[in-house]
Amino acid sequence: MATVSLEKLVKRYGSLEVVHGIDLEVADREFIALVGPSGCGKSTTLRMIAGLEPVSGGNLKIGGRVVNDLPPRARNLAMVFQSYALYPHMTVRENMGFSLKIAGQKPEEIAPQVEEAARTLDLTHLLDRRPSQLSGGQRQRVAMGRAIVRQPDVFLFDEPLSNLDAKLRTQMRVEIKKLHAKVQSTVIYVTHDQVEAMTLADRIVIMRDGYIEQVGTPEDVFQRPHSKFVAGFIGSPP
Ligand code: ADP
Ligand code: MG
Repeated sequence: MATVSLEKLVKRYGSLEVVHGIDLEVADREFIALVGPSGCGKSTTLRMIAGLEPVSGGNLKIGGRVVNDLPPRARNLAMVFQSYALYPHMTVRENMGFSLKIAGQKPEEIAPQVEEAARTLDLTHLLDRRPSQLSGGQRQRVAMGRAIVRQPDVFLFDEPLSNLDAKLRTQMRVEIKKLHAKVQSTVIYVTHDQVEAMTLADRIVIMRDGYIEQVGTPEDVFQRPHSKFVAGFIGSPP
């Protein structure tokens, strides 16, 4: 069960506190969008969940287990960033299999897993290309492929589509939705694009200045914003 719980989670950089003790319960297989203006603490929160930033206070639980001190690889999650950072000298196949290779799996074990992930993301015909021979959208699909071969319990996305043009963004939204239905992972998806959040998420978490301002279904936050800030951010009618 890949529930994710944030309990009074705090992040400080030196004496500066940027996440002020936030609470959030993410259900198994839920799709959560974390939204809010630039600098409100979305990436910091995601990076704490991923294990890329140490927690300064409170608890972080995955599947009910406190993971505060576990390294990223022991958390069974995968993260997809805005800058997808594919290895330029490797083919798509090698990029997608790399994490399994460093985990010590044999080539004959890796191949079927990479091929399965490639089928899911419609990448089979691109497996022998290098990143420089791919479009932006294809690269983003490879980045997702690299994440799903590990069959993570939890997917973390940090503004994965913000480098793509509007048309491709719409297309990729559909892909991400299909992917979620297929792999059935829990998803925490950071975006500053409220339309993306509204179309993808089961629930939306609106952050402001290191606090959580409101949590609710897209309909909830749109119809019943708790504050002017939420209404303004989500674009609710006045
Ligand atoms: P968001 O992803 O919502 O745009 P971030 O989580 O990146 O926001 O940043 C939240 C706050 O923490 C910002 O004020 C940012 O300047 C600060 N911050 C982020 N990373 C660091 C860091 N490594 N050192 C100091 N301050 C940081
Ligand atoms: Mg960010």
